Amino acid sequence: MGTPKGDQNLLRRHNRGLVLNLLREGAPLSRTALARKTGLAPSVLTRLVRELLAEGIVTEVGKAESNGGRRSTLLALNPDYACAIGLKVEKTRVLAARINLAGEIRARHALPFPNPRPEGFLELAQSLVEELAQGEILGVGIGISGLVDAARGIELYSPILGWREVPLAGPLSEAIGLPVYLENDVNALTLAECWYGAGRAFRNFVCVTVGEGIGAGVVVDGKLYRGAAGGAGELGHTTLDPHGPLCRCGERGCLEVYASDRFLVGQAKALGHETIDGLAAAARAGDLAAQAVFAEMGRALGIGVKNLVNLLNPEAVVLGGERLDAADLFLPAFEEQVRRHSFPKEAEDLAIVPAELGEGGFLIGAATLAVREFFRLPAEGVTT
Ligand SMILES: [Zn+2]
Repeated sequence: MGTPKGDQNLLRRHNRGLVLNLLREGAPLSRTALARKTGLAPSVLTRLVRELLAEGIVTEVGKAESNGGRRSTLLALNPDYACAIGLKVEKTRVLAARINLAGEIRARHALPFPNPRPEGFLELAQSLVEELAQGEILGVGIGISGLVDAARGIELYSPILGWREVPLAGPLSEAIGLPVYLENDVNALTLAECWYGAGRAFRNFVCVTVGEGIGAGVVVDGKLYRGAAGGAGELGHTTLDPHGPLCRCGERGCLEVYASDRFLVGQAKALGHETIDGLAAAARAGDLAAQAVFAEMGRALGIGVKNLVNLLNPEAVVLGGERLDAADLFLPAFEEQVRRHSFPKEAEDLAIVPAELGEGGFLIGAATLAVREFFRLPAEGVTT
């Protein structure tokens, strides 16, 4: 008795997914290596690869080094087989980029979005997508601050934008005729670092962003951990001092009060500087008071991250966000705090590394939401 047709089809798509993911993670690979890693019979694999070559998803990229015998042909993904578009919603503008399957930015665009209102977003997003769409577009991903219902594509609450319960993915998808995915911006950045950046070396890591807000994305066993309602990683609103100053979230003494740009701006003004850049320049020129501000900020951030490290025991902390530009000033105090207050073994093994993708990381991550669907095995659920 043969396998029912539907099952065969599912199996074919599953095998195809296995091969594509192996090539995504570890190309170039030979047919022999792919057969070994997938456990597929060489004949099945050869047929599958022939299909992928014909479709243009996979390309031959040369011959393997060999010590005697026939040198085998190496295979890799064609990174420009398809693209995805990522959007990042900010307080005064919306950024957009088209990325290929290797996470490389192929084109960028931005439009001003002063006084951001949900009503104005759809039209803006649509024109950004039209501007950037070229070739095969897998879909569009949106990265946005705050609490996101990724499964339904709804922005639940963003204190930065002042939006509540705004459906974003559905209306945009209807308008442009492409799948649209929504995710918290820090989670999107974490996904980007996980697939294409500093996170590639780790199965378990946290990505901490520092800037206007403080956020964290959590990767457990190679997958983004979102929590029950997508609220995991709200590091900025963990409490440092319940009697501290009021935070914009309504609570008191949150980490953000002591380590975000708000803190640095306040301290800069108190010391007679206009901006954080001015404060940083003074610190680098040897101003002890300015240096003390960054050390204080680094210590506070270190306390917050230390709690996270003790809770999750990650292999690495990947540090990102706009204020990474002042890492030279706050990193020593930060690192001292994280390592001193963690368990000795954890502290010793913990890697603290900068994010690799820079400010484009948020956009790459948003687009990766769509790329991720392309590589998803058919048996996997819709949200991981
Ligand atoms: Zn708060």
